[in-house]
Amino acid sequence: MQLYNSLSHTKEEFVPYTPGVVNMYTCGPTVYHYAHIGNLRSYIMEDVLEKYLSYTGLKVNRVMNITDVGHLTSDGDTGDDKMLKGAKREHKTVMEIAEFYTDAFFEDCKALNIKRPEVVEPATDCIGEFIKVISSLMDKGFAYAAGGNIYFDTSKLDEYYKFGDFSSEDLAVAVRDDVDEDTNKRNKTDFVLWFTKSKFDDQELKWESPWGLGYPGWHIECSCISMKHLGEHLDLHCGGIDNAFPHHTNEIAQSEAYLGHKWCNCWFHVHHLNTTGGKMSKSKGEFLTVSLLKEKGYDPMVYRFFCLQSHYRKSLEFSYENLDNAAAAYQKIVARTARLIKESDGKADESALKVLTDKFRAALDNDLNTSLGITALLDIFKSDANAATKLAAIKSVDEVLSLDMIPHAEKLNTSDSEDIPAEIAELIEQRKAARKAKDFALADSIRDQITALGYAVEETREGTKVRKL
Ligand code: AMP
Ligand code: ZN
Repeated sequence: MQLYNSLSHTKEEFVPYTPGVVNMYTCGPTVYHYAHIGNLRSYIMEDVLEKYLSYTGLKVNRVMNITDVGHLTSDGDTGDDKMLKGAKREHKTVMEIAEFYTDAFFEDCKALNIKRPEVVEPATDCIGEFIKVISSLMDKGFAYAAGGNIYFDTSKLDEYYKFGDFSSEDLAVAVRDDVDEDTNKRNKTDFVLWFTKSKFDDQELKWESPWGLGYPGWHIECSCISMKHLGEHLDLHCGGIDNAFPHHTNEIAQSEAYLGHKWCNCWFHVHHLNTTGGKMSKSKGEFLTVSLLKEKGYDPMVYRFFCLQSHYRKSLEFSYENLDNAAAAYQKIVARTARLIKESDGKADESALKVLTDKFRAALDNDLNTSLGITALLDIFKSDANAATKLAAIKSVDEVLSLDMIPHAEKLNTSDSEDIPAEIAELIEQRKAARKAKDFALADSIRDQITALGYAVEETREGTKVRKL
């Protein structure tokens, strides 16, 4: 597929280092608070990328870290550790906060059909790895001790600004912060690899190291966790665009200094979800979470659909009006799918199916253009193919989009089939779950209960049907 690479600033054919296998790393959440829906935009788009690569037949090894130490309030090594801030806010320990918000993050992911990467590793589990890599950087002369901390010396590199021009605004801010705050640095772009005797005396978690009791900087986490699980050659590294500088720039600096060769081939950056006040962030404006959207009556699938409607390299403006439009469009798709389920009685025509899915592939092959992917989805409904073919096409594209169109449509058909009391509808859902879990004895006993209440339930090609006896 063609994928835009932030390193080269061009769309390139994505070619993994080992044919057929993709090593993919994703910057995970800093677990000091709930993820906001902006963070989740990044994870949704990365999820679609992973699923699309798998859809094309590649084996994807995906690793994500959990930042539970070392990420300071400013990306330029100033301010407090965000985790400590979260712990103080809630009068809990850092570990309690980390556990709570890690679980909350994966709950949100589940609600949004974001697949959990095979490997998820908290930074606090990898201290030994960080010390190993930092020691080697010291030995090679890429790092130095000053004021009790260990810094990476960016002047030792031939080229530091690997992503070049594209975030000069962020760059100016980060560099300015450094100059004000940290006089230990030899160069304004140097960054902390390991904190010991710094201004953060009340840091809760500290570990022994060759440089004294301390804790790692944020950037070293991702380099080490990636190398630990995915080796020396990374195919794809993902994150939101705010991570490009300084986080990813510093990751490249230290990883390549450590390895002595190029590390990651392709950098995938998702642009921001903005509100009218600018970039959505955890510290300002309304804190929009998946739970809040649910409270307001939005199905999480509507938010996923809203994100997929636009391209990941364009910033996306959030408003309830835009979300309502997405909700209406999504509901229409589900209703059309429901009709197809009712109509479907023949067999899928393989060649017609290929035409429909090829159109979808062409859209996603072109730099993961999910917006055109949704157009290809809508074209399925408009096509002349029979209902079974259309349904097969929807099922196929949903391996990537994960919008749950068919399950939602089946539910709609069930609740449509008659005016069913809530109690019966609930039993039907329970029976479905039992059948899915292959507990047929339980499913049968639930059916008997439904019959005893005066309703008949049967499985048909169009889904579960219920009628009054
Ligand atoms: P954090 O939990 O702050 O470490 O961020 C988690 C991920 O969300 C990172 O990949 C960030 O780049 C990304 N991110 C942060 N803010 C936004 C936003 N407004 N829109 C999209 N992605 C974001
Ligand atoms: Zn990272």
